[in-house]
Amino acid sequence: MHYLSNLATDRYEAVRGTIARFLGAASADEIVFTTGTTEAINLVSYAWAAPRFEPGDEVVLSIMEHHANIVPWHFLRERQGVVLKWVDVDANGDLDPQAVIDAMGPRTKLVAITQMSNVLGTVVDVKSICTAARARGIASLIDGSQAAVHMPVNVTDIGCDFYAVTGHKLYGPSGSGAIFIRPERMAEMRPFLGGGDMIREVTRETVTWNDPPMKFEAGTPGIVQQIGLGVALDYMSALGMANIAAHEHALRDYARDRLAGLNWLNVQGHSATKGAIFSFTLDGAAHAHDISTILDKRGIAVRAGTHCAMPLMDHLGVGATCRASFGLYNTTDEVDALVSALELAHDLFA
Ligand code: PLP
Repeated sequence: MHYLSNLATDRYEAVRGTIARFLGAASADEIVFTTGTTEAINLVSYAWAAPRFEPGDEVVLSIMEHHANIVPWHFLRERQGVVLKWVDVDANGDLDPQAVIDAMGPRTKLVAITQMSNVLGTVVDVKSICTAARARGIASLIDGSQAAVHMPVNVTDIGCDFYAVTGHKLYGPSGSGAIFIRPERMAEMRPFLGGGDMIREVTRETVTWNDPPMKFEAGTPGIVQQIGLGVALDYMSALGMANIAAHEHALRDYARDRLAGLNWLNVQGHSATKGAIFSFTLDGAAHAHDISTILDKRGIAVRAGTHCAMPLMDHLGVGATCRASFGLYNTTDEVDALVSALELAHDLFA
């Protein structure tokens, strides 16, 4: 009840509204705080899906999902015989929404799809998918980890049941994040983690739950992290997500042209509408880790490896890639620096 405690609570709770506005949700009560997308999707898997999925029920996934949107569904496959149905991307790395819709059958309970691939930059028409799922009584979960930082997002327009975001992608602190949950779905969910704050009353014999969304937030929350996330979202909103997207699209077009000039560079994913995310390998024996080390020496930070997307790596037939992901602070000069560092790496390995 003391002043500083109340101040912290007010600032922390205000972020719920900030996230709701940022994502286009109708109310702050539709936002559950999490430590990121991983916890968010595990929450849906344990609290909503596990109690209602029977053996043979299906979850439809795209091949370009991050492990955070795969492994929680594998848990259900292992523990209760849920079937994972995979939809491939085409040669450009695009995901045909109709292919996802066609994969929905009478046993499909959930479609769980990323709005933007963290490897290919592909943007998915999630609205068409969620609309079709809703018409068939199928729930939809969208992994918004990448999309929310690169483009305007409106969960009401998308029509999804769940939309997960992670703070460290949104220029916020690691360990912050949230999930939008449609109120009808929230009402269907049992608690996930048990402990302080998520309860109304605990006795020796029984326990009753706090109202949602607190019902799904056990223990001392990431107060500092979520307040930091709120500041980051305010910063992006002040710049304007449409402006950020326009800036990044210009970078994408510039980078696409410059990288296309390197005929020994194999860029993965050529969707016309992709975001400014480029995954690539070099002809020859150079491993992605070696390339990224050379780029790092030139002050260029790329990610190298399988990007927590092993099924996609398998589909693409590559062991690992380097990924350059451009953000609101990047410039065309930095694209040029990337190109000249790649030329250096190519010369070293030629
Ligand atoms: N989904 C996508 C598309 C991502 O890029 C990431 C990256 O971090 C995640 C899920 C997992 O997020 P986190 O590890 O913060 O939970």
